[in-house]
Order: sequence, then structure tokens, then C-alpha cells
Amino acid sequence: MNVQSILIKEPGNFNQENLRQLFDLAEHNLPSLLKYANQIRKEQVGDEVHLRGIIEFSNYCSCHCLYCGLRAENRKISRYRLTNQEIFQSVQTAVNYGLKTIVLQSGEDRFYQPEDIARLIEFIKKHFDVAITLSVGEHPHQSYQIWRNAGADRYLLKHETADPILYQKLRPGKNLQDRIECLLDLKDLGYQIGSGNMVGLPGQTLTSLIDDVLLMKKLNVEMAGIGPFLPHPDTPLVGSSAGSLTETLKILAITRIILPTIHLPATTAISTVNDDARRLALESGANVIMPNFTPLTVRDQYVIYPQKIDIIEDPEQSVNKLKKLLKEMNRTISMSYGHAVKIKTYSLTKKEVYHGFGSQ
Ligand code: SAM
Ligand code: SF4
Repeated sequence: MNVQSILIKEPGNFNQENLRQLFDLAEHNLPSLLKYANQIRKEQVGDEVHLRGIIEFSNYCSCHCLYCGLRAENRKISRYRLTNQEIFQSVQTAVNYGLKTIVLQSGEDRFYQPEDIARLIEFIKKHFDVAITLSVGEHPHQSYQIWRNAGADRYLLKHETADPILYQKLRPGKNLQDRIECLLDLKDLGYQIGSGNMVGLPGQTLTSLIDDVLLMKKLNVEMAGIGPFLPHPDTPLVGSSAGSLTETLKILAITRIILPTIHLPATTAISTVNDDARRLALESGANVIMPNFTPLTVRDQYVIYPQKIDIIEDPEQSVNKLKKLLKEMNRTISMSYGHAVKIKTYSLTKKEVYHGFGSQ
């Protein structure tokens, strides 16, 4: 059986059963699945790779995620907040390298009032010709509204795992339903939304990995950040095994097949696994890379997992390395904003999205 025959049986109608067949196929013939995903990527979104410049503007976080080095309990890292001046300087550097999207990311830092972030967005939008993606966690509807009004275009909020019990274990005090509620809220406000999951989390099952892909399909997300779980030494998950590259590429490829026009980054977490991982991800459905423009002076303090690949690379090194790789692969760097490719296949009610997820 090949990928097409699995999909043709029930086109557009994905469920645990037919996705499990895709996983089985990957088990027996991974190269053919990855190749098929790469072909879909080429047909649907072309050979262009979108560069999104990430600026990690604060590593303070009030959350307790067991997997993350920025968790509130980690007293071993020094915390920082970039000044507005430092942020603008980083945006300027990214723009000088031709980037058209800036991703502003941080922990859930309660120091900022929603208006502080709004002013930052307004200033960037006024002075630079870029799209803005926010990735600052869960916030009330009103904050999302203020930031959207200020000009934010996209929001990245990974659902992390579609298994509601595992989610609660890994994110004490939080629940999957609230995360999904935030994503739906953001979608209603007109953001292009990105979700995604970690692969290889302790306690994760095949069923829940399939649910990860199904959830993204149900939400009809425009971007998906999929990366391996990498254990951090100063977190409670220090003794756990890391997620594998093969498994991550598999999920990436299946996501490309199920959501053909999605923007899929070859994430920093994937690229951290080994020197060839970024290329492999780009050959398995990925079409986005997120070079880091956080000032080098604080970069080693934004350690969500160890050996993060971009900690020591300056923007020039990193962009030159990317250009060389893309040239070797006959891929080009996009000169556009890289907004979502809009194909509204269907939209579900909140009840339909929740069914099977979040219900605890
Ligand atoms: N605080 C925001 C949030 O959680 O949405 C944004 C910043 S958070 C550091 C960005 C992402 O890092 C999370 O969505 C999570 O998937 C990823 N992450 C955290 N710890 C990780 C780990 N140990 N291995 C791989 N990815 C990790
Ligand atoms: Fe905070 Fe995000 Fe890390 Fe969780 S994943 S501890 S919310 S920075």
C-alpha cells in the first residue's frame, strides 16, 4: 500500500484509523513517505523557504512546564528582558538581512502590560516593513485583541501534546482545553495561527501523536512548529530520553500531507539534533526556517533545551550558512511576507474541535 491509496480511500476525511495506516507505512518505508511529503510541499507551496527572524525578548516565565528550561522554578538561569532599544536594533539587523517576518517570543512574563507589547508592535510596524508573529503564551482575549489591533499578524501557540492527561501532567496548573480555546480565540480575531507539538515526550503514545496531527487539521492551523522533545538538565524531566529525529521527520511529513499548504518550519529543536537534520526536515515537507536575531549577549540565557544550535551563531554566520544550504538544495529564499496560503477547506464549530481532545 502507498500513501496515495491510503488517502484516496477517504479523501479529506482523516481519522485515527487512516492516519495509523500512514504511520505503519512510515514504519516500513519511511523514505517513500518523506519523498511524498516533499513532493506535496513542492506542488503546494513551491521551492521558496521563508525566513522568520526570532527575537527572544524575555526569558522570565511564570509557568511550570516540566520540560522547559525557562520554567519559573529554574533558579540556575539568569533572567533578562531586552530593552525596546535592543529589540528595535535586533529587528533592524533582521531587516538588513532581508527578513520580512519578525517573531517576538518570550516566557509568560507578567511584567509586561498588554499595552507595553502593543506599543512595541506599533513601533515595529511603523518603522519596518515586516509581518509580526507573537509567541508569548496564553493570555486573555482582551490582550490578544489589543495586540491584533496594534498590528500583530500571526500567533504561535503550540498545543504541545493533544493528550489532555499528559498535557496536565507536563504543564501543572494548565489544561489543553484552555490552550485550544486560546487558539480559537486568536483565529476569531483574524490572526494566522500556528500550533504544533513536541515529539518523544515521556508518556506520549502513538495514539496521541496521531491526535496531534488530527487536532492541527481540525483547527486548520496555518503554521505548525514540530520538534523533538530535548531534556533539559535543570528540569524534572532531566532523566528522560530525547525525541528521535526519525519520529519527528515522520510527524512533519504526515502534517505536510494532511495540511498541504501549511507553513512548516525546520525548527531549531530539529536542527539541534545533528548537522544534517535541517536539510532532512527541508526534504520532508518543511518550508520555513527561523534564524535567531536575539542579541548574542543574552542568547545563552534563553535555554529552553540544551545545546540549542543557534546560541553561538551571529546573524551573518547563520544567514550565510542557510543561503549555502538552500543553494545546494536548489531552494530559494522567499522575498515575500510569507503569509498563510489561504485554502479554507472547512471550518468546525468549537464543539467539533473539542470532541476527543480537551474533554477530561
Ligand atoms: N512561552 C511561550 C509558550 O510556551 O508558548 C513561548 C516560548 S516557549 C519557550 C516555545 C516552545 O518551546 C514551546 O512551545 C515548547 O514546545 C518548546 N520547548 C520548551 N521546552 C522544550 C524542550 N525541552 N524540548 C523541545 N522543545 C521545548
Ligand atoms: Fe514558560 Fe513557554 Fe517554557 Fe512553558 S514552554 S515554561 S510557558 S517559556
